[in-house]
Amino acid sequence: ASTIVWLRDDLRLDDNPALTHAVDVGLPLTVVYILDEESPGVRPLGGAVKWWLHHSLASLAAALKDAGSTLVLRRGPAGPVIRGLAEETGAKHLLWNRRYGGPERAVDAEIKTWAAENGIDAASFQASLLYEPWTITTGSGGPYKVFTPFWRACMASGEPRKPMDAPTHLPSPGAGRVASDVLSEWSLLPVSPDWSGGLARTWQPGEAGAHSRLDDFLDGPVNEYGDGRDVPGVEGTSRLSPHLRFGEISPFRVWHEIRLRFPREATPDVGIFRSELGWREFCWQLLYVNPQLATRNYRPEFDRFEWQEPTAAELEAWRQGRTGYPLVDAGMRQLWQTGWMHNRVRMAAASFLVKNLLADWRLGEAWFWDTLVDADAASNPANWQWVAGSGADASPYFRIFNPVTQSKKFDAEGRYLREFIPELAPLDRKAIHEPWKSLGLEGYPAPVVGLPESRERALATYQRLKDTQ
Ligand code: FAD
Repeated sequence: ASTIVWLRDDLRLDDNPALTHAVDVGLPLTVVYILDEESPGVRPLGGAVKWWLHHSLASLAAALKDAGSTLVLRRGPAGPVIRGLAEETGAKHLLWNRRYGGPERAVDAEIKTWAAENGIDAASFQASLLYEPWTITTGSGGPYKVFTPFWRACMASGEPRKPMDAPTHLPSPGAGRVASDVLSEWSLLPVSPDWSGGLARTWQPGEAGAHSRLDDFLDGPVNEYGDGRDVPGVEGTSRLSPHLRFGEISPFRVWHEIRLRFPREATPDVGIFRSELGWREFCWQLLYVNPQLATRNYRPEFDRFEWQEPTAAELEAWRQGRTGYPLVDAGMRQLWQTGWMHNRVRMAAASFLVKNLLADWRLGEAWFWDTLVDADAASNPANWQWVAGSGADASPYFRIFNPVTQSKKFDAEGRYLREFIPELAPLDRKAIHEPWKSLGLEGYPAPVVGLPESRERALATYQRLKDTQ
């Protein structure tokens, strides 16, 4: 008899209930990660996320080895892979931490049924969300559609449970070797061209990297998070998003580390940071209730919205950070170089695509899916729909970010712009936000669209949608 722990988006030993439970069971243990891009409906991973996954798995394998275990890698549709592995190892227990996407839940449910029919005890645990989506409901039992009451209900439902310490020693795999794929043969890393240099300079995937990010954040930026989070030129936010995406750090650990540092009254800055974690919960709750969040407008009236097909040149300008609007371009280049973009700039860059270029939000969502190291099935579409106005508790469509005003306000000195757009270096703090007004600047493009007319076009299109309601 033996146990299988199936790790998915929970690539950690710390606060990993499935692993801790396996220690309690005490039987020989097989820890497996399955690269599944074949089960029905499962969305293939984007390029940046694949890069991260490679390094995260390498780091996890090393940590498991230190704890006396090994990481088994398998590829294929998860159902048949798990069934095969259970037969190979004579598994009596199958343990995992829950996930919330529609296709993933269908896979897990099918495996659970199969396990029950075959005398295998399959058990799942809460690990990646502070509040299980089905436990936070309105008075009438439905899901919340607005963030603030959702988060209030979460807070009212009690303090998240305490995190569990990482097991120092895991049950050994037992007799008989279980075959594993070789990580490098999964070809998760980009080869030609290898665009990952900037990612490697920016990030340390894995549990150790996640914990040091949290420490750095709690040692300083958290104290000024309320204002600092809006300034893209400083490290005012935690940059935990890719670590949370892969479950390299548990939200319970993040929550309680903050508690330890701020034992009595939480400061307003801490409260704001916690509510950002709440937005993550809200996005997952939205996905849980709307499995088609990445493809379907949350507000169905937007099905009639007259998106315009952007020209190839416009779309390329946006993707490559050559729209002629410095804040949008700096953001898109930060994304390309580092796999991450500051939240305020994400909003401005997304608004530019869906409003000034009038492109369907799904085009932008797909680009972010491929290029973000934190791209996930809930936060990415939920935030795109938020910007587009088609989402839950969304920013109203008529709220159109002005990239020039935003850049003057949040990057007054042009620090962020200079970091990612070297062509703008000759311009001073005043001129840098509107480079088309400076004569003789070389190498930086003219604006792809004018702001006033594209804004008018967007508002007129929105008005037509409202008129036909
Ligand atoms: P912090 O400010 O330190 O916040 C802490 C944590 O809270 C984040 O790590 C994240 O887990 C969560 N969080 C903060 N803001 C949001 C939010 N608006 N929605 C959901 N969770 C949030 N975030 C992703 O994790 N994955 C995505 O694919 C993603 N796509 C986005 C697309 C668009 C168009 C926009 C506007 C935002 C998107 N976000 C996404 C949300 C947000 O931009 C990032 O979570 C944040 O910038 C990550 O940086 P941080 O870890 O320093 O955040």
